[in-house]
Amino acid sequence: MERIYDLIIIGAGPAGLSAGIYAGRSKLDTLIVEKEKDGGQIVITSEIENYPGSIEGETGPSLIERMVHQAEHFGTAKVYDTIVNVELEGEVKKITGKRGEYLAKTVILATGAFPRPIGCPGEKKLVGKGVSYCATCDGALFEDMEIYVIGGGDAAVEEALYLTRFARKVTIIHRRDELRAAKSIQEKAFANPKIAFLWDTVITELKGDGLLESMVVKHVKSGEETEIFAPEEDGAFGVFVFVGFVPLSSLFENKVKMDSGYILTDDEMKTNILGVFAAGDVRKKSLRQVVTAVSDGAIAATQAEKYITQ
Ligand code: NAP
Repeated sequence: MERIYDLIIIGAGPAGLSAGIYAGRSKLDTLIVEKEKDGGQIVITSEIENYPGSIEGETGPSLIERMVHQAEHFGTAKVYDTIVNVELEGEVKKITGKRGEYLAKTVILATGAFPRPIGCPGEKKLVGKGVSYCATCDGALFEDMEIYVIGGGDAAVEEALYLTRFARKVTIIHRRDELRAAKSIQEKAFANPKIAFLWDTVITELKGDGLLESMVVKHVKSGEETEIFAPEEDGAFGVFVFVGFVPLSSLFENKVKMDSGYILTDDEMKTNILGVFAAGDVRKKSLRQVVTAVSDGAIAATQAEKYITQ
């Protein structure tokens, strides 16, 4: 007979790992299924200052490494597989991956979100050739060069600060004349002599044959377009995009209730399907942070255990 897990968690980001820790500790027979890399978006975060109790210099990867270890310590198993279909109705849920089929009494959907692209011509073909969504991964490639950071939220401003370690100049391009980022983060950016701002500006095209060589920017109020070229002495420059996230939920469309791609749950992380829970950034909520993701995961796993016992 095929093994039926008590709980399958889809996604090994902070929400999924926290659920794995709580479920393992409750002795639920638990499997985490992760597509490629543990950690989700947080592994592309260079510094975590606001997670309670985080140690000085804490990075996304270091925090995730400890979470993974903790989940394993409590006996939660993990496989790497890309899920292609889910059947969530009924007492036994069927999760189909490219490599296998998994059955469980309960499921936690913790697939998170991925960085939203700007969506302008040239962006796709220049990813990894000057265009990046991860300062920790690619910042060092721009040692003593010029970098443009797109966005005005916490991620854009924090990552711009981080990128000043490498670049000789970081310019934040924001579509409005006011940042969305927390005031404390803004203050650090305004005080940093390496950071400049291009307000009321959007990128309309990224150009380059091989490497990113120039970009066209538009002033949204005047409509004026300008082409910015890589400094001759560098031959290239970096564009780091931090304009929010898109939920990774297409797999669950028409299977659980959603709003604009975000899964709807109640306060106990229950979706509209019995035995199916959602946790973390894929869920509709007001604050998407590691601290809220791990909280969601803990609640979802506790509720999954309750559901099974009852
Ligand atoms: P965000 O807060 O949604 O900010 C996205 C930024 O990108 C906004 O400034 C937005 O402009 C801009 N934007 C959106 N679409 C755009 C487009 N097509 N073209 C140009 N600009 C565009 O996203 P985030 O900064 O990635 O943060 C996501 C969540 O994680 C937030 O809840 C944030 O607080 C949290 N976070 C927290 C920390 C921290 O606390 N240390 C660090 C990172 C992230 P407008 O301002 O005009 O809308």
